Amino acid sequence: MAKTYRIAVLPGDGIGPEVTEATLKVLDAVQKASKDLKLTLVHGEAGLNCIEKYGTNVPAKTVEMLKATDACLKGPMTTPEEAAAPRSAAVTIRKAFNLYANVRPCKALPGVWALSPDIDLIIVRENTEGLYFGKEFEVSPGKGVAMRVVTQKASEKVARLACELALNRRRHVTCVHKRNILRVTDGIFREAVFKVAKDYPSVKVDEVYVDAMAMRLIKEPQRFDVIVTTNMFGDILSDEAAQLVGGLGLAAGANIGDDYGMFEPVHGSAPKYAGKNKVNPTATILAAKMMLEYLNETKASNLVQKAVEQVLREAKVRTYDLGGTSTTHEVGEEIARKILENASL
Ligand code: NAD
Repeated sequence: MAKTYRIAVLPGDGIGPEVTEATLKVLDAVQKASKDLKLTLVHGEAGLNCIEKYGTNVPAKTVEMLKATDACLKGPMTTPEEAAAPRSAAVTIRKAFNLYANVRPCKALPGVWALSPDIDLIIVRENTEGLYFGKEFEVSPGKGVAMRVVTQKASEKVARLACELALNRRRHVTCVHKRNILRVTDGIFREAVFKVAKDYPSVKVDEVYVDAMAMRLIKEPQRFDVIVTTNMFGDILSDEAAQLVGGLGLAAGANIGDDYGMFEPVHGSAPKYAGKNKVNPTATILAAKMMLEYLNETKASNLVQKAVEQVLREAKVRTYDLGGTSTTHEVGEEIARKILENASL
């Protein structure tokens, strides 16, 4: 009997709707190709586009809708920058569902320039606290203070997830922090990682300061397997890492909690490209692939990965960021076509 999942779809702002549409084409092909998988898509609203209508970027009815689904596919959303505006929709959803780990793979892909062909690392970042905790104050005119919250509990959770991932990879976790300066907060984070690591004797755990890590990602990225770090460090390092293997158009991320997962491209809403049918949908397609993996639909997830790699290797249909002239829509169509073709072989 076909296994059915309810998937929330939040297309978001800017280029969000077009990359999401291309991804849904691919998910449609996956369902046709693997007859024992059914995805019931539930479309919802979130993002800047909601503020005028609902007064917020994550309406209560969207949160209720997400609660009734197995996972969420999320497009990028524009974050309003005014002090009084609602905070980032992604941050709100991550907190609401305690999606404590943000997992961003960075792997060299066929047919795409990479700094080194053997790059294969994952950045796992704590996703609910750190400097992105969202508490900032202007204590007096011209003097601002931001809170950097780090708890042992959240740090241990993300460390455990990093060690679990490493078990099925090269069994190497690198803890990235800045404890020499941020002695309290990064002291707690570091201690939590090394404490959890004791439960994983087969995993080698070492540590690197974040500034050194920014350099070593360029110098010797192939030496890293799983990098675990705090929220903002991970956000910055994962954009850097994306650029080592083809850029933001290919970088996907998973937000993982104990009971829910939200999957999205690493990139933002790129407003200047909105509606131009020009940007690369592959990052969102690979996010959907991570969602299938999370749902334990390994066969379906492999179908997507294989098709993406074939299309990249052939280098006939690709968007401007990879030196091509194809549209967003064409890339989605081509990956979907490959999935169906592979299934009929
Ligand atoms: P961005 O990632 O949207 O775009 C930066 C540049 O990267 C683009 O101008 C483009 O050159 C390139 N790019 C991004 N996506 C691409 C794609 N799919 N294909 C090809 N090229 C691509 O970053 P930004 O301009 O700093 O942010 C725009 C908005 O997105 C901001 O409001 C920001 O807060 C928001 N944002 C949201 C999320 C999220 O929803 N999780 C993540 C990051 C940024």
